[in-house]
Amino acid sequence: YDAKHRNDTVVVYKPESDHNTPERLSLLGDLRRALDPDLATMAAGEITMYYQPQIEIQTGEVVGVEALLRWRHPTRGMVDPEELIKVAEQSAVMRLLTRRVVDDVVEQLAKWQAAGVTLRAAVNVSIRDLHTLEIVDQIRERLARFGVSPDQLQLEITEGALMADPRRVLATISELAKLGVAIALDDFGTGYSSMQHLRRLPLTEVKVDRSFVLGMATDADDHAIVRTVIDLAGALGLRVVAEGVEDERTWRLLRSVGCHVAQGWFYARPMPADELVEWLGRYRPLTPNN
Ligand code: C2E
Ligand code: MG
Ligand code: MG
Ligand code: MG
Repeated sequence: YDAKHRNDTVVVYKPESDHNTPERLSLLGDLRRALDPDLATMAAGEITMYYQPQIEIQTGEVVGVEALLRWRHPTRGMVDPEELIKVAEQSAVMRLLTRRVVDDVVEQLAKWQAAGVTLRAAVNVSIRDLHTLEIVDQIRERLARFGVSPDQLQLEITEGALMADPRRVLATISELAKLGVAIALDDFGTGYSSMQHLRRLPLTEVKVDRSFVLGMATDADDHAIVRTVIDLAGALGLRVVAEGVEDERTWRLLRSVGCHVAQGWFYARPMPADELVEWLGRYRPLTPNN
């Protein structure tokens, strides 16, 4: 297959289609092994982060990247990240995984910085990660150790994640915001009590779920939903990121309705850190005039 696009087009193994629990348990065991620092050399390269550019629509400027987890299982091949997270979230392995992701991403930001590329990276976090303040200390220490500024880090949280224990989650998010880390509400429109979250959380951005963005060029309802989210966010002083922008038509529509940032295959697929630097070198903005 095309190695360049392996990350998005080839999903070799979906644990969810395994209805038998032993399969899931064995996957969880493999994940624990892959994350074990004592076995790090054995599992070297199995778990990596891919990065997808986020582009300011009006100026064409690359404003940041979203870090997305990739796990190449030694025998099963690429594991679908969404399914992987679902399995990991059932256990304490999720915390180890997020710890690893945050560590990798902050170190990567420092490496890019040393190479003259200052970027902001968004990291996805899960329900379990926000139940304690542990993640706040980890992020604070990691940023300090690598000399990365807190405003170079953003966390993306999903609305579902907030339902489990709203008060504790809110406390953790507030501490992160105080630290200077930006917070985005991910997959907006697919969860519950969206309005409450918009009001109560110290958010800087809202990400419109890609299911609405994918349909907006052909479906009037999706178009109306995206426009409404942009208006609402604007009224609350939040920026809007559209994810899943696959074609130029959608990009132009988003620009005409005043969306701030776009992310999607139209610009670039998620890619390894070194490819991102090459991509940045080749990138030419598509501005309103071209
Ligand atoms: P998400 O955070 O909503 O990430 C956006 C997903 O949309 C990514 O899928 C990305 O590859 C995909 N995408 C980007 N542009 C396009 C496009 O133009 N068209 C289409 N069809 N898809 C596009 P991915 O990488 O498979 O990740 C799926 C989900 O898994 C993420 O959704 C996130 O919820 C979760 N995830 C991924 N990495 C991590 C991680 O490090 N930690 C946690 N907790 N969750 C993660
Ligand atoms: Mg996300
Ligand atoms: Mg999303
Ligand atoms: Mg998602």
